[in-house]
Amino acid sequence: MLAFGGWNQGGLQPREPTGDAELSEARARMVREQLVARGIVNPRVLEAMAQVPRHAFVPAGERDRAYEDGPLPIGHGQTISQPYLVAFMTEALDPKPTDRVLEVGTGSGYQAAVLSGLVAEVWSIERLEPLARRAEADLGRLGFANVKVRWGDGFLGWPEAAPFDAIIVTCAPEEVPPALVTQLKTGGRMILPVGSQWGAQEMVILRKTDAGLEKKAVLPVRFVPMVPGRKPSEP
Ligand code: SAH
Repeated sequence: MLAFGGWNQGGLQPREPTGDAELSEARARMVREQLVARGIVNPRVLEAMAQVPRHAFVPAGERDRAYEDGPLPIGHGQTISQPYLVAFMTEALDPKPTDRVLEVGTGSGYQAAVLSGLVAEVWSIERLEPLARRAEADLGRLGFANVKVRWGDGFLGWPEAAPFDAIIVTCAPEEVPPALVTQLKTGGRMILPVGSQWGAQEMVILRKTDAGLEKKAVLPVRFVPMVPGRKPSEP
């Protein structure tokens, strides 16, 4: 049962009518063949992936491929992640209805939309202004009212909104950014790809405990790099 988020408050239909049975069927097939078949089991995560219209977050020219098994270009050299990785990272975060979650790398806004129905609040930071503005507009138009988007530098986190129950980073830094660890609650979870742009990257799951940081590498991956941004107030 998805209790939060604007898009399902009137029932189980996304607010934007796709008007297109083919897209709904393709999305249902994506859940079965790409997610369930590969071991995603959290029913809330599967429901969110079945509900959120991924096609509304990709450029019009890519819409027919929105439910295919891979990343897609979203402009400015960036990509919307493969659906399986979105589901995998969301499941690994263990999202709770009361959680306040930070996302670094808003991109299209799709990952934030998936989290929107699973947690209380999503705070999402994007380095590239046009992507931040577009995602903010799309999320608003589609009714994902509990997502806030900021154009800024994810390396700094979002100190005014911290601490967070969970943090998800969808671009790859070479090291875990210290500010993000600081902004994670004790008991909180973080998932992020770590590694160099050219070499190996690994998906890492962190848990902050009283005793320190528990760290587990779970999957070799390839994400766009996390690049230091600038503050909106800088010239
Ligand atoms: N979660 C996104 C995927 C985005 S791809 C989605 O669902 O579509 C990763 C994004 O991280 C890119 O848009 C890139 O511009 C952004 N990024 C890279 N470095 C960043 C930084 N330092 N701070 C914030 N965003 C960053």
